[in-house]
Amino acid sequence: MGTNYRRVLLKLSGEALMGNMGYGIDPEVVKGIAQELGEVVATGVQVAIVVGGGNIFRGVKAASAGMDRATGDYIGMIATVMNAMTLQDSLERIGVQTRVQTAIAMQELAEPYIRRRAIRHLEKGRVVIFGAGSGNPFFTTDTTAALRAAEIEAEVIFKATKVDGIYDADPEIYPEAKRYSTLTYTHVLAKDLRVMDSTAIALCKENNIPILVFDLTVRGNIHRAVMGESIGTLVGG
Ligand code: UDP
Repeated sequence: MGTNYRRVLLKLSGEALMGNMGYGIDPEVVKGIAQELGEVVATGVQVAIVVGGGNIFRGVKAASAGMDRATGDYIGMIATVMNAMTLQDSLERIGVQTRVQTAIAMQELAEPYIRRRAIRHLEKGRVVIFGAGSGNPFFTTDTTAALRAAEIEAEVIFKATKVDGIYDADPEIYPEAKRYSTLTYTHVLAKDLRVMDSTAIALCKENNIPILVFDLTVRGNIHRAVMGESIGTLVGG
């Protein structure tokens, strides 16, 4: 069976690497994600990753505790680089070729973000991990995912989370809540369904990039998503 996509952008939140810990990185969780990504790359699909940093540092939270917002955001971006390098290490240990590109120059440890170079890596079958978000404070890694997906012409954003899609109410509070299988961007924006921030959704809408929201904690789901199986919720036009 062939894959459904040629090039995908996976958005991994910082929390996805945290597992059940309260902070930081769970090496076993990262190892599991890397193994699954290895299987996906072996099918021939090109994979780019935008990784978050919320498991280590969030600018907004630091600002609410009195820190200068932009400074906090820059620290948050550095946090994403820690996650990017951890993921890179895990992938390379199992023989998956990778490159980390950062939106803030850190040339001793990663390449700078260069769009055409990122595309070339993808064409060669390397997993490209984008670190340091967009390089700008006041943005998020969700928005970065939408931006990079548009730039590299990814066909879809995989928004891997801890829930299996978008519901009409919080399923943890309302057990009878229904999961949507598809949704429009407009609906997500109008109902303020917090799947990604509104800037990210608007950017996807403008560039017609579908977003598949699915549960990363179910083993095999990244592969299922790549194969076009109907898991999670697909947000599109
Ligand atoms: N950040 C930023 N600009 C960006 C991306 C991220 O300033 O383009 C900062 C921001 O402080 C954010 C932190 O990096 O809180 C970590 O990213 P995010 O919260 O998006 O990570 P996630 O929620 O996916 O773990």
